[in-house]
Amino acid sequence: YLRMKKHNFYAGPSILPEFTKKMTAEAALNFAETGLSVMEVSHRSKEFVAVMEEAQNLVRELLHVPEGYSVLFLQGGASLQFLMVPYNLMNKKSAYLNTGSWSSKAIKEAKFFGDVVEVASSKDANFNYLPKDYTVPEDADYFHITTNNTIYGTEILKEPDVNVPLAGDMSSDIFSRPIDVAKYDVIYAGAQKNLGPSGATLVIVKDEALQRVDRPIPTMLNYKTHIDKGSMFNTPATLPVFACLQTLQWLKEKGGVEGMEKINIEKAGLLYDELDRNKLFVPTVPNPEDRSRMNVTFVMAPDYTELEKDFLDFATQKGMVGIKGHRSVGGFRASLYNAMPYESVKALVEVMQDFEKNK
Ligand code: PLP
Repeated sequence: YLRMKKHNFYAGPSILPEFTKKMTAEAALNFAETGLSVMEVSHRSKEFVAVMEEAQNLVRELLHVPEGYSVLFLQGGASLQFLMVPYNLMNKKSAYLNTGSWSSKAIKEAKFFGDVVEVASSKDANFNYLPKDYTVPEDADYFHITTNNTIYGTEILKEPDVNVPLAGDMSSDIFSRPIDVAKYDVIYAGAQKNLGPSGATLVIVKDEALQRVDRPIPTMLNYKTHIDKGSMFNTPATLPVFACLQTLQWLKEKGGVEGMEKINIEKAGLLYDELDRNKLFVPTVPNPEDRSRMNVTFVMAPDYTELEKDFLDFATQKGMVGIKGHRSVGGFRASLYNAMPYESVKALVEVMQDFEKNK
């Protein structure tokens, strides 16, 4: 195992806690002493219903979800939420902040349902900053933000101060820090970064906000359907939901999102400090306040661009996996999700320092 030890910097699906993997592997063989695999039992069995309920309760507990919100585990990924959000929550008009490819995709879907105001976009600089100067129309039903931009490495760490409810795509930073759920009508996240394997999608929705639209909504796309049936209207993604529950338990043990935030600040700080110091590399996001703690994007400094492939090979030899940047940014991306150990970030920093020594 030690010989196989890799440092997993993939952006998603990505690293999960050892605890999650071990417990899920065990339950894949013998789930809750049933003698059956978690893949083989009915989602309506009392053992699995307990998994679903506990997962929903832990989401409430860890994120301090106020009364009046429902917690759902759906399928279809965050991409299906791009359209379920406007279908269910936008009567005539909504506002979106465009901070990258995921926001752009969410905007495209919302346009099927009404008037979509793009209040600002950072496309002019390949999404390397967060627009701060914008006005959200007061008659918008919600203001949609992508809290963490997985591809471009920016993160909205504090809820913007606007006078309409927020809708948040938190696929790549949910559970990495405390959030003020009361400011949101809806929060959604594909599981495959900070929560579990792909196949489950977490949705937290304010019940009251669902009274806004009067358009007919097909059954499977209607949040009410899933709320009324406790995320069991149809067969949920049983194994992924089981794995999510393990991660939530691990998170609680680690001090919840408050504890996690402290560690995440340290991990990201370690890498950004090195990027600011090391002559070979530059972070792609110039403003430190806009930089993501989850996805650290960087490129070779202008004098060293020809070394890009050499560094990738060098780092790969040293066990770094998944650091190649997304094609729309180039360079490198190190994803430092909750489960990423501090030691792995340190190992990457040491590789960067070793590589610098001979240049
Ligand atoms: N939104 C963000 C911020 C993402 O990072 C991703 C996937 O990487 C998505 C949406 C799309 O999620 P899914 O693949 O679950 O549809």
